[in-house]
Amino acid sequence: MRNPYINMIIWMGISAAISFLLTKIFGLWIGLALTFGVFVLINIIMRRRMLSGGGLGPIGGGVKYRCIVCGHVFKGGECPRCGSKMRSAEF
Ligand SMILES: [Zn+2]
Repeated sequence: MRNPYINMIIWMGISAAISFLLTKIFGLWIGLALTFGVFVLINIIMRRRMLSGGGLGPIGGGVKYRCIVCGHVFKGGECPRCGSKMRSAEF
């Protein structure tokens, strides 16, 4: 739904602002080092979000399913209670 180009432009603006501020406050080299550190951190967070449900649902929560047969709510492929694979997504 969201335009990836707009995302990228916002991202570039944020990164420019962060590096500008950090180099202004801490000087060129420390500022650049901090900027790099911030980006590594953001990268790790983004990757973790992508892995846990592709950005859908709450952060770190993943997708839950409700078993159609017995109504048990669970994560993963099949219902641990009755073994059914008939499930609907629950948010
Ligand atoms: Zn079940």
